Amino acid sequence: MMPWLMNRLPAAVVDQARALADAQPDPVSAFVYDLHALRSHVQWLKSFLPQGVELYYAIKANSEPEILETLAPWVDGFEISSGGEIQRVLNCSTRRNFIFSGPGKLDSDLYHALTHQVEMIHVESLDEIRRLNMIAARLNRRQAVLIRINPVLSDHLATKLSMAGAPTPFGIDEQQLAQAVALVEQSENLVLSGFHIHAMSHQLQVERHQQLLDWYLDKWLSWKALASNTQSVRYLNVGGGMGVNYLRPEQFDWPSLCRHLGERLARDRQAPIVRFEPGRFVTAFCGYYLMQVLDMKHSHGQDFAVCRGGTHQFRLPAAQAHDHPVIHVPRRRTADGPSNVGTKRRLTIVGQLCTPKDVLARDVVLSDPVVDDLLVLPLAGAYGYNISHADFLCHPRPLQVYLDAGPLNTHAME
Ligand SMILES: *Cc1c(COP(=O)(O)O)cnc(C)c1O
Repeated sequence: MMPWLMNRLPAAVVDQARALADAQPDPVSAFVYDLHALRSHVQWLKSFLPQGVELYYAIKANSEPEILETLAPWVDGFEISSGGEIQRVLNCSTRRNFIFSGPGKLDSDLYHALTHQVEMIHVESLDEIRRLNMIAARLNRRQAVLIRINPVLSDHLATKLSMAGAPTPFGIDEQQLAQAVALVEQSENLVLSGFHIHAMSHQLQVERHQQLLDWYLDKWLSWKALASNTQSVRYLNVGGGMGVNYLRPEQFDWPSLCRHLGERLARDRQAPIVRFEPGRFVTAFCGYYLMQVLDMKHSHGQDFAVCRGGTHQFRLPAAQAHDHPVIHVPRRRTADGPSNVGTKRRLTIVGQLCTPKDVLARDVVLSDPVVDDLLVLPLAGAYGYNISHADFLCHPRPLQVYLDAGPLNTHAME
């Protein structure tokens, strides 16, 4: 059911790629999003959620209006981290609850959030609690908050991108939690609704994520007991962080995680309302970055495909320090199947930037691509375009194309 299969592309994406190349005067670079696949994926995610567990989407993974419009009917809400992201959520035609996390929140953003009925603020420091209380008082509002905790985690629960269990700017150290709880309770315009932990990103191993959730749930009662009035303390936001496997077809086992959590919650009599807020795992699979080959070069024993676009449009492989998968789409099929089924070549795939760091993948074996052919990089729907330094070298921005063609066939390339 995971919509992405190694070396397979939806036929509509292939057709779109060829149509774009045909229509544009210059060779193309573009992001193509399959909204139908996104909708099926979010429905699939929701279908495994245990009773009472909620799914929010962390929009920083991809906050393009079409993506939010597609997700809005299916998610319980949006998680945002800036004033600009509040605006994206407000612009969406389906209004959804939104929650506000992140370090260094501006007063102006907090005002903006409160005047637009933010559901919860995830407070990240003692000073932020004080500031928020003053702003809520000025607006004559009682604001629900979750305290974001940076817990003391054992090593075996960490990943390569840890936001907790280590010195970080995120959340309030667990040792200071009693103080934070007391401060919220003394703040007349704040209501403590529970706790938030977003401890890591890139978790590929479901067993570890299960252990992490178990560990949070083991802690829940002792955290809650820090409050003198526990009635309103009902929510445990467990963040996101489910990883996407960019290099192999096996993906994070979401059904197992949900099954495990469901069994655990059924045993706990005083369980909280659990809320997930993934980003990457929601939108990564629906996006494709398309690059057209501009030049084929041989240098000091290595073959290069120089392509339209580059890491200034799709920084993800550079940010992750990985070789992104690349699928070759010949421009035209000949009468007897795909063209260019000739010699295999081992290539380094680069973009147009004047820096040796503009590499999207090394050691990619393709069937002799030629100038004008298309290369498609899948899994580009999260932390793709929006984390990229698109103005570097003043190249035009890539095209962004949204397909919503109903069930798509896939066909194998290469
Ligand atoms: C980025 C972020 C998320 C989403 O993380 P993913 O790794 O994309 O799932 C969730 N919560 C918070 C607070 C975040 O900053």
